[in-house]
Amino acid sequence: MSKENIMHTYGRFDVTFENGMGSRLFDTKGKEYIDFVSGVAVNCLGHSHPAIINAINEQSKKLIHISNYYWNTQHSVLAEKLCNYSDHNSVFFCNSGTEAIEGAIKIARKYGKIKGSADKNIIIYMKNSFHGRTMGALAVTGQGKYQKDFVPLMGGARNVNINDIEELRSIFNENVCAVIIEPIQGEGGINSASIEYLRECRALCDKHNALLIFDEVQCGIGRLGTLFAYKKFEVIPDLICLAKALAGGLPIGAIVANERASILQPGDHGSTFGGNPLVCAVANAVIDELTVGGVISSIEEKSKYFVNRLNEINGKLKFINEIRGSGLLLGLKINIDVKTFINKCFEKGLLVVSAGPEVVRLLPPLNVTVEEIDNVVNIFEAVASELC
Ligand SMILES: *Cc1c(COP(=O)(O)O)cnc(C)c1O
Repeated sequence: MSKENIMHTYGRFDVTFENGMGSRLFDTKGKEYIDFVSGVAVNCLGHSHPAIINAINEQSKKLIHISNYYWNTQHSVLAEKLCNYSDHNSVFFCNSGTEAIEGAIKIARKYGKIKGSADKNIIIYMKNSFHGRTMGALAVTGQGKYQKDFVPLMGGARNVNINDIEELRSIFNENVCAVIIEPIQGEGGINSASIEYLRECRALCDKHNALLIFDEVQCGIGRLGTLFAYKKFEVIPDLICLAKALAGGLPIGAIVANERASILQPGDHGSTFGGNPLVCAVANAVIDELTVGGVISSIEEKSKYFVNRLNEINGKLKFINEIRGSGLLLGLKINIDVKTFINKCFEKGLLVVSAGPEVVRLLPPLNVTVEEIDNVVNIFEAVASELC
């Protein structure tokens, strides 16, 4: 088995995984790991969840793919579910987070044309954001390391510091067609937008007739303890981008729009695989499990327990300077080198990733157990004792 034919776009850990069960993964040598990466916030029900296996089995016997020239039951049911749980009324399906962002950018640009003029094309985005790596999404991803080798990028994008209301007011004018923001920045360091800031984004978008886009690709689908992240912030965006956890591990993306933003017409945008019946059947099963199945209602309690246990071990070890985030999207700003810390965890059978240079990101499956949280805290305690 050669690894040479995989393009080197990731610095990979030296491990090959073969199978998984719940929050556990097993490598080709049979070594067991606790998975607090979850495919980067994708495997919200852990690995090999029976509801997902069942949905794949049942739907694959009926219909795997048809063209978007026709309706299928599963995409209609999924769109209805997403609209019932939100304040919105139409959905576009695609296959990934970055594609959801591309679609939202196109909606924003068309909105600007309809409501203003050719000059109404400015999109405001946040420093340290992450929205994806295709050319449109990259242009609104506020991190130089991702942008620098790929200029010139899409024009009209302006970045600001998150939570700086004065700066936002000063840059805003009638040529802005959209603001795009992650309610909690995932990749960029688990930085939360304040409610006041999101309210100001909403107010300025209303004042200048622009669209407010929330990127809930990482923080949505239950991770904060509500199906939609915006519900935690009491600010309603016009467009919500979803992906990652929506189908529990199968590739999917979605744009959820309110009436004002539902402006795309036949031919404006499309996707061959978007709304694929197999993937949508799995997403329907995942949403049912998270909501009716009670997974989401347990998140707040598990989050509190996790944070309390972390504070407990930190009382002696003092390696955590700050615990960031909310629900089961948590970040530990530590005073130990993050790479060394993560590698030590890996050696002890725990998978975690970073969020920026100084934060360890914790993304357990949403159905993680208290015992598994205890195991992870014990590993952190052991690693910190060795490194402090
Ligand atoms: C992962 C991520 C994306 C990009 O999603 P892909 O499926 O990798 O294209 C966009 N926005 C946020 C907030 C993400 O975490």
